[in-house]
Amino acid sequence: MNIDLSNKVALVTGASRGIGRETAIHLAKAGARVIINFNKSKEKADEVREAIISSGHEAEIFQADVSNPEEVKALFDFIRNKFNKLDILVNNAGIIKDDLLLSMKLSDWNKVLDTNLRGAFLCSQHAAEIMMASHSGKIINLSSTSAIRGGRGQTNYAAAKGGIISFTISCAVELAGKGIQVNAVLPGMIATDMSSRVRKRAGDMILEKIPASRFGEPADVASLIVFLASGRADYITGQAIPVDGGLSIS
Ligand code: NAP
Repeated sequence: MNIDLSNKVALVTGASRGIGRETAIHLAKAGARVIINFNKSKEKADEVREAIISSGHEAEIFQADVSNPEEVKALFDFIRNKFNKLDILVNNAGIIKDDLLLSMKLSDWNKVLDTNLRGAFLCSQHAAEIMMASHSGKIINLSSTSAIRGGRGQTNYAAAKGGIISFTISCAVELAGKGIQVNAVLPGMIATDMSSRVRKRAGDMILEKIPASRFGEPADVASLIVFLASGRADYITGQAIPVDGGLSIS
């Protein structure tokens, strides 16, 4: 299936590494002009930009902590000034701060909720305002299979990712009449920095639970995101779609 995103402008939050990086590259390959948001990893964000530009496509980088309203505003001011539109938002930026319920620090609870859930809210609010003006747009939110399966030591993370699903459904209901589709993707265990510790510690045990018998690659998730970002998915909204090799049904 040929997906053409030429003339589209896409923002991927947390695109310096992992799933966000791969998504930015996939969107650019489909023809989109991409804004690579990052927080701390400027060199890596530069590398993603270079990779996109050297393959003949367009990309910009912009530093902003998605949990910070002023920094998010600056990011969207940049997009308004530079492109005067936004067609695709991928709310990908995320962190983990795992701990058991009884030892979970309030600061770790807040940090994970602020980055993973408030960040998506802040970015979606700005994006929806821009998209409403053109009566079209796609918002794709990164949730997780942890949202529906839970996870030991992940009360903060699972709550944030469950919140992302509920947030997605309500946004979809509100924005459907404005020509904007909002969906969530639920990656299982994907081979990135985020999952490296748990894959090292309990990889074999987790693999036994994955019917596909392998960890996912960032490209597995990016392919679905590109589809959801395209006109091929115009009639899909408010959905939470797993990309997990069957983990969520096992
Ligand atoms: P990753 O490799 O750890 O990369 C995380 C990305 O998020 C980095 O680019 C990081 O940027 C960015 N980021 C973190 N905090 C940020 C902030 N406050 N503002 C802006 N950017 C921020 O993670 P990943 O595995 O690719 O995960 C991407 C998304 O998929 C996350 O939402 C995650 O929860 C979700 N997910 C991942 C898995 C998995 O198995 N990997 C499974 C389910 C869901 P800097 O380095 O520049 O700070």
